[in-house]
Amino acid sequence: PVPQVAIVGRPNVGKSSLFNWLARRRLAIVDDFEGVTRDRMTTLIEVGETEKFFELVDTGGMGIEDPDDLTADVQRQIEAAIASADVILLVVDIQTGLMPLDEMVTERLRAVQRPVILVANKADQEHLDTHAEEFHRLGRGHLVCVSTTQNRNRDKLLELIQDRL
Ligand code: GDP
Ligand code: MG
Repeated sequence: PVPQVAIVGRPNVGKSSLFNWLARRRLAIVDDFEGVTRDRMTTLIEVGETEKFFELVDTGGMGIEDPDDLTADVQRQIEAAIASADVILLVVDIQTGLMPLDEMVTERLRAVQRPVILVANKADQEHLDTHAEEFHRLGRGHLVCVSTTQNRNRDKLLELIQDRL
């Protein structure tokens, strides 16, 4: 079976943007409004030119912004994606910094014994990378700063994923 890589994080950190950026296609809906992703999006991504693939999963906002608004079905999909993921991309926003919801997401990942990559998105300029330090407080995951809009560190992230598959 194809290994699975699940994208998780609070709403608006750029999960769907990351999904499209890694896929190099506009598949998931990116929106300025929170909680746009409702359906679980998946796509196959080739690792380099190895003819080996992994399945990338955009889980949406994990339902933590408004748990009542999510159907049990969507919630189940999210839990299933996390449970079956071989690698988890925990996305945070370097421009807003660490938020209580980031800690809640991390808390929900606590029982998940899979490698986590802590993806600090929206690092649009290099100088923003210095703000990533505080994310170490989450105590989880190898940290990498990226920007989906400025195309920063895509190869680095793919390499980190590849090393953990
Ligand atoms: P999601 O809710 O986590 O799926 O987040 P989205 O992918 O829908 O993006 C939320 C907002 O963040 C949108 O307005 C995106 O354009 C913006 N965004 C995503 N990636 C970046 C980035 O690298 N830099 C900046 N400045 N904005 C970004
Ligand atoms: Mg989304």
